[in-house]
Amino acid sequence: MPRREERVRLAALLNIVFTILELVGGFWTNSLAILSDALHDFGDSIALIGSWLFERGARRSPDASRTFGYQRLSLFSSLFAASILIGGSIFIMFQAIPRLFNPELVNAFGMVGIAIIGIIFNGAGFFLLKKGESLNEKVLSWHLLEDLLGWAAILLGGIFIYFWKIYILDPLLTIGLTLFILYNVTTNLKEAINILMQGVPKHINLDSVTKDLTSIKGVLGIHDIHIWSLEGETDIFTAHVILDDEILEKQPEETRKTIKEILQNHHIEHSTIEIESKYHCSGMICEGRDRTTRK
Ligand SMILES: [Zn+2]
Ligand SMILES: [Zn+2]
Ligand SMILES: [Zn+2]
Repeated sequence: MPRREERVRLAALLNIVFTILELVGGFWTNSLAILSDALHDFGDSIALIGSWLFERGARRSPDASRTFGYQRLSLFSSLFAASILIGGSIFIMFQAIPRLFNPELVNAFGMVGIAIIGIIFNGAGFFLLKKGESLNEKVLSWHLLEDLLGWAAILLGGIFIYFWKIYILDPLLTIGLTLFILYNVTTNLKEAINILMQGVPKHINLDSVTKDLTSIKGVLGIHDIHIWSLEGETDIFTAHVILDDEILEKQPEETRKTIKEILQNHHIEHSTIEIESKYHCSGMICEGRDRTTRK
């Protein structure tokens, strides 16, 4: 097993164990802040399992029944995590808001203890993944750093409650942490939905791709353009390109190469291009052929 996959799997395992500890600790201390962090970590566990699948899928090559390979598996875990996190957040909010008006006693000493363990666990995960070289691991390690800050907030809250009995801090922290969870969920969900809808990836500007391609010498027009992403990293481009007669006859290969180069400048590695003359379209229907063709 490659080390990278091993690291992500270990981080996932640590997270799952810790989520269970937090659940127990949350009920024991009666601290909603710790419970909301348990929810957050549960979401993280699913995300980590998802990226573990992703690391595996990245190695598992396409086969006769899955010609795109298995990378999109990670999308399922994103959607699954999102539905659990949204449901859990709503549940916790319903618990936290009444406590604002009627704060309950919490075991501050226990809160501080769990926060310290949390800092150790998350810190370990952070340093484990920081060594990773893949983008996936980098993103995860930054995320764990955010989690460390969450634990620091709970630690401070616990200390304040312990010494000054400010019990309202617990629901306040809970609401803050839960809003943060919801913010992250929406961001991830938007991205996953964009991939499922085969939307143009955020980092690609369709207009400037089209503009660059139509400025190639001999290109009369371009239509039936599709830009989408397989799983968020591999971007795919297909289009019909109309060449003028002279270029079509004398240097179709050079033009094709130029097109590929331009696409690569736009971070598109995988492209399929249909070369057409101005007389006939190669598709059943050539969407927008007239609109984008230079006269
Ligand atoms: Zn997290
Ligand atoms: Zn291909
Ligand atoms: Zn066409």
